[in-house]
Amino acid sequence: MIKEIEVKCTPAQAADEQQVLQLAATLCEHTTEAINAVTISRRSIDARSKQPKVVLRLKVYIGELPAAKKRLRHQCIRANAQKKVLIVGAGPAGYFAAMELLKAGIKPIIFDRGKDVQARRRDLRAIQQESFVNPDSNYCFGEGGAGTYSDGKLYTGSKKRGSLKDILQLFVEHGAPENILFDAHPHIGSDKLPKVIQSMRETIQNFGGEIHFESHVDDLIIDNGRASGVIVNNSDEHLGEAVILATGHSARDIFELLQRKQIRLEAKPFAMGIRLEHPQALIDEMQYHQRPRDQFLPAASYKMVAHVQNRGVFSFCMCPGGLIVPTATAPGELVVNGMSMAKRDSQFANAGMVVAIEPDDLREMQRFAALRCLRFQQALEKAVFAVGDGSQAAPAQRMTDFVNSKLSQDLAPTSYIPGIYSAPLHEILPVRIVTRLQIALHEFGEKYRGFYSQEANLVGLESRTSSPVRIPRDRDSGMHVEIDRLYPCGEGAGYAGGIVSAALDGQMIAQKITGILT
Ligand SMILES: Cc1cc2nc3c(=O)[nH]c(=O)nc-3n(C[C@H](O)[C@H](O)[C@H](O)COP(=O)(O)OP(=O)(O)OC[C@H]3O[C@@H](n4cnc5c(N)ncnc54)[C@H](O)[C@@H]3O)c2cc1C
Repeated sequence: MIKEIEVKCTPAQAADEQQVLQLAATLCEHTTEAINAVTISRRSIDARSKQPKVVLRLKVYIGELPAAKKRLRHQCIRANAQKKVLIVGAGPAGYFAAMELLKAGIKPIIFDRGKDVQARRRDLRAIQQESFVNPDSNYCFGEGGAGTYSDGKLYTGSKKRGSLKDILQLFVEHGAPENILFDAHPHIGSDKLPKVIQSMRETIQNFGGEIHFESHVDDLIIDNGRASGVIVNNSDEHLGEAVILATGHSARDIFELLQRKQIRLEAKPFAMGIRLEHPQALIDEMQYHQRPRDQFLPAASYKMVAHVQNRGVFSFCMCPGGLIVPTATAPGELVVNGMSMAKRDSQFANAGMVVAIEPDDLREMQRFAALRCLRFQQALEKAVFAVGDGSQAAPAQRMTDFVNSKLSQDLAPTSYIPGIYSAPLHEILPVRIVTRLQIALHEFGEKYRGFYSQEANLVGLESRTSSPVRIPRDRDSGMHVEIDRLYPCGEGAGYAGGIVSAALDGQMIAQKITGILT
């Protein structure tokens, strides 16, 4: 017999298997000896009361054992070298597409401009410590894509077809911790993600897929309206049955290439703003009503949304116990984002705080047509960089000073390694962003005690929240609306936002291709 129950317990009880077993036995009116196993189906935190509780949904096995789990990676079969699909981009969209193609024995050949996860680390160190940005290997480009050195949050609001459970299961089979299968807000962490990505690479290669690093795709081969190959590093020609374009939101050269080739693109709504950094203890107190937080509770997070002057203002990619990192992809730009380790144990909590921008808002950029949002984003990244001394040090302002349009005399401590300096972000950023942020931040402070604080800094610029361009595709076939066998995929194509939704999109596109090649 399997009984499904829900228990609400203290964080300490939830962290102790024996206590969970005891609670399950009491609720099921059995002895602990009669229970063969207890598994967690979902774990969440209820922080509404003064003493936060952990809510566990449990399966209690009495007189039977849990069934053995199916191994999804074993669904891959040895690739047939006659059926080749070229994948541009080794991010989550590219890797999950490759694993899905291998289920049908189709050979994926992946090209990524960046380096493998290990070699990539050196380039990240160079950005952090020397402000040197390698345009092919950075926080956005390289094996595993933008998600590798991230917080590794694995939740999605996406209603895409496909199974979120299967995506999480594949992560676990490649080394991610089991708790991502049941946590309400699963995350892996930057210290664990590279090993997971490396293990996925091994699966793809073991089944006959190929992965080529430092292989920049600079052109597409299109014959009679049909994509048949790519040109790599300006010299090598590679041919395949189809081309999946999974290059992410920062591959500006790919958008420019498509525009040059007169392949249809569309300007897409996106969002820009700043990264907001609080002391983690302050966010813990705001959410858990205790300082310091219970040692068994995770670093607290938040999600804020407001509607100001007809546009959304919202928190984005919140990283509890995390770090702000420099995520520019070319010299002369300044872009920040956030990441965290598995334990989320830094003293800081950061989140993007961004304002939605519609293509129609940018009348002054109309001449750039489909690239107008991209050009606006790029110009602001350059302008913010130009304020500084040529390094990746970022302009910053205390939250209260920003809201009151006042230059900060000094700044709160930060996790951002290249450093921050006081600057009037309220003057540097466009009015359409500043006014809305000022109103929203004040509003959030009214709703959540402690949030609006001079202990928090705003750090500029958070600009790569999602792709500013869409590469339109046909809903049924998944192909580009004009080019046969060209499959725009993942975040860069404008059809995903985040690791899980990019992975789901990769799987879905691979299924479409499998449908026509088998
Ligand atoms: C610092 C940071 C933290 C993040 N944190 C999270 C998080 O916690 N949770 C979450 O869900 N999302 C997070 N994201 C967003 C997430 O990483 C992306 O949504 C996701 O990686 C998109 O997947 P993708 O495969 O579509 O593209 P990407 O991951 O961007 O991968 C694209 C790949 O294409 C390659 N490429 C680009 N151009 C070319 C070319 N011309 N030739 C060859 N290769 C090329 C790039 O090198 C890159 O590896 C974070 C992003 C960053 C930067």
